[in-house]
Amino acid sequence: MLHRAAREALARTARQLAAEGLVIGAAGNLSARATAEHIVVTPTGAALATLAAEHVAVLDRHGQLIDGPFAPTSELALHLALYDDRPDGPGAAGAVVHTHAPMATALACVNTLTEVPVVHYAMAELGGSVRVAPYATYGTPELAEAVLTALEDRTAALMANHGAVTVGATIDHALELMRLLEWACGLYWHARAIGKPRVLDEQALAPVRGAITQGRYATRRPASGRSPDPGAARARRPR
Ligand SMILES: [Zn+2]
Repeated sequence: MLHRAAREALARTARQLAAEGLVIGAAGNLSARATAEHIVVTPTGAALATLAAEHVAVLDRHGQLIDGPFAPTSELALHLALYDDRPDGPGAAGAVVHTHAPMATALACVNTLTEVPVVHYAMAELGGSVRVAPYATYGTPELAEAVLTALEDRTAALMANHGAVTVGATIDHALELMRLLEWACGLYWHARAIGKPRVLDEQALAPVRGAITQGRYATRRPASGRSPDPGAARARRPR
């Protein structure tokens, strides 16, 4: 089986997302770089709770199916756009996780919410406040572009009336970021239910950002040691 280890890791992560309630049924998709030329991605309509490595699709960087029995996810344009946007260097996209996680998706349905502000220092791992990308039909280049813009300088974004996406150095890292995002959305929700949340400013966040950059913020670091550097991604952005 081509890219067996990468396919097994992706399938395992898919089953984990389902077991933790972050995806229900086929309402989510994920991908990871297997090599510079190939990505592994969940198939379209797949029940993530029972996904096996042999079901995972292997694609080239243009989205052409190389191996696997099923067509790739209908949200492929979003995944490919992210790998194109963050091809290499410290901020490279190594994996992408997209879910309709309950807390994150609920906040993404609130008309007046354009971003989830930084109410906890751990959100520095997400790059800061989490923007909400405007609504566009699933699977379209318009949605991919909107999410790309929302992800500028970030490792996470919400998608209006749809869900959430995280970009990590590895599939384990992207999974951790999705867990963190869902937790942060629940935190913000609860804080707002009681009163006006106290938002951390850039000065408060700077030491945490520094610790992340230097790898001293260890709780959520990927084993590969590749830490996302959204600034590097931004520098490459044409806009
Ligand atoms: Zn979706």
